[in-house]
Amino acid sequence: MRKPILAANWKMHKTIGEAVAFAKAFAPLVADVTGAEIVIAPPFPALAAVGAALRGTHVLLAAQNVHPEKQGAFTGEVSPPMLVDLGCAYAIVGHSERRHIFGEASAFVARKAAALLAHGVRPIVCVGETLEEREAKRTFAVLEEQLRGSLAEVAIEQAADVVIAYEPVWAIGTGRTATPAIAQEAHAMIRSWLQTSFGAAGDAMRIQYGGSVKPDNVSVLMAEPDIDGALVGGASLDAASFAGIVRYQEKSK
Ligand code: PEP
Repeated sequence: MRKPILAANWKMHKTIGEAVAFAKAFAPLVADVTGAEIVIAPPFPALAAVGAALRGTHVLLAAQNVHPEKQGAFTGEVSPPMLVDLGCAYAIVGHSERRHIFGEASAFVARKAAALLAHGVRPIVCVGETLEEREAKRTFAVLEEQLRGSLAEVAIEQAADVVIAYEPVWAIGTGRTATPAIAQEAHAMIRSWLQTSFGAAGDAMRIQYGGSVKPDNVSVLMAEPDIDGALVGGASLDAASFAGIVRYQEKSK
């Protein structure tokens, strides 16, 4: 049984004060939710303060990025031990904005995922095709290439600690959510690739959907057999909205 995982990716939003106000308003709204993992990824400057505000709650902290080296001359970067110090349980790697705006290749994503695992931080590895790639019927080829490249350094015994986020680039921040059928088709392909690569661990790995998830579309997406959670951008910036997403099970009743 895979435990659902609902994660907020705030991207480059919220000052420390705004982030702490969110955490204080949000935690009580989800205090009784025990059947799902709840994760918030604030920008780096707010990690310590949000971590402190969430102490004693079951909401987990995540970073939005990491550098694979432990330390060194890497101006502007943040290392896995620094994330451990901050209490991060997860870190997002390979987000499409990192791949497309900052030119990060899957081989670099693989190094980040491996470095996180070596330090006990679970990676959320993002994959997803652009609209152009979908229209050229290259979706599965792109996903396979990103999975193979980004998970190249994950050992079978580590695989269950890795979360995959399927985020079609055309659905991110556009308001154009993939239909549950389109998302499930990609998730099923990803599941089958994970099973082939990691055996039984491929069944245990959670696959999140990301791309314009909102309180009013999350429950139909979560009803699909291979959708185990959501990675949420825009709709996670408001405490009531993200709480509505976390409480998705109440919507289908
Ligand atoms: C994201 O950036 O991970 C994302 C899914 O954004 P949005 O929910 O705004 O589409």
